Amino acid sequence: MCLFCKIVRREIPAKILFEEEDLLAFADIAPKAPTHALVIPKRHLVSLDEAEAADATLLGKMLLACQRVAREAGIASSGFRVVANAGPDAGQTVFHLHFHVLGGRAMAWPPG
Ligand code: AMP
Ligand code: ZN
Repeated sequence: MCLFCKIVRREIPAKILFEEEDLLAFADIAPKAPTHALVIPKRHLVSLDEAEAADATLLGKMLLACQRVAREAGIASSGFRVVANAGPDAGQTVFHLHFHVLGGRAMAWPPG
């Protein structure tokens, strides 16, 4: 079973921010910004590349959960970034779909 599935099942610890019916939001273990959280579906999906039309509602809920992370962290108005790395060129390292929510500092564009 993958790392994030184990977090969903509470088999390994994580700083969980909130849980909804289909998803979980928790703090990234190696934060790259003052706020850095991950929003994941409870169901195992490898990446955005594996998502299908039937997952549209889930994906929409995940984006709204990213907004919730930003609002609850107090960074919604200062600004935040949502990132989904999919595959090798994007640098994906954990193969369970996740949206990064980053904020609390100014961020450069484009990403490296
Ligand atoms: P990615 O490189 O897009 O696949 O992102 C994976 C993210 O998962 C990285 O930002 C890691 O710091 C984070 N991560 C890895 N292990 C854990 C863990 N046990 N708890 C929380 N975040 C983790
Ligand atoms: Zn998984």
